[in-house]
Amino acid sequence: MIGNPESGMDQLQWRIRLHYNWFFFYSSRSAGSIMIFKWLKNRRRRKLLAQPFPDSWLTYLKQNVHFYRRLSETQQRKLQNILRVIVAEKNWEGCKGFVVTEEVKVTIAAQAALLVLGMQEEYFDRVQSILVYPTVYIAAEKTMGPGGVVTEGNSAREGEAWYRGPVIFSWDDVLRGGRHDHDGRNVVLHEFAHQLDMLNGRFADGIPPMASEQQYEQWQKVFHSEYNRLVHDCRNHKRSLLDCYGTTNLAEFFAVATECFFERSRQMKQSHPALYEILANYYHQNPIEYH
Ligand SMILES: [Zn+2]
Repeated sequence: MIGNPESGMDQLQWRIRLHYNWFFFYSSRSAGSIMIFKWLKNRRRRKLLAQPFPDSWLTYLKQNVHFYRRLSETQQRKLQNILRVIVAEKNWEGCKGFVVTEEVKVTIAAQAALLVLGMQEEYFDRVQSILVYPTVYIAAEKTMGPGGVVTEGNSAREGEAWYRGPVIFSWDDVLRGGRHDHDGRNVVLHEFAHQLDMLNGRFADGIPPMASEQQYEQWQKVFHSEYNRLVHDCRNHKRSLLDCYGTTNLAEFFAVATECFFERSRQMKQSHPALYEILANYYHQNPIEYH
């Protein structure tokens, strides 16, 4: 799910607006202060990573994050480092009385870290805040239909991602995704995939920043063909490996394909080899090794 800033404002959206304002206040600094800020940030990260990894956090990883034990020792260490930065640098906030404990932070941050395990120094810097509800939450929604007719309603959500805004989760769904592998569903991978998609612009379009023109062209070709295949299969009630929610648009297709890539990698490589290959190139990972 991607947050839409044009939809109606409810209490949740007021909170999101506050997080936006906070981001733009900090992003309006001069070039000199940005350099100092970056230097201080790198120094702070080095100090953080020089500390030993807390034992209790290892317990959370083993209990709540199914893929952790299947990573190599080197990958586990890298994942620990990325998740420590995410835990330390994000503003964590509980909603509807939910208390964000260390277990909650580590469980969410570890799953987000898996996405960027093969990348260089990616800590989702544009995500300033992570909001957590105890369970599925209801958000007010206004949609503009034909003739400018606005429809108001409520939608139940497991999570959502906002451009340069917060990422929002239901803890029940975070745990379900983290503890159950092979079902192809993981709300943390899904919402942080949207954040990667939005690294090159406000509108998520299923195309995150690419390393080369060639990679971009290959991505376009494979993604459109695989998206059309899913639309066809879902319309005709044919069984598909990918969740039909991916037919919503190309942005949702990228997020759904990412969940499947990490959770059902073997099946994806068999039945969607071209899709598996471009995702493996993008993420610099071969998750079959984790199963
Ligand atoms: Zn989505």
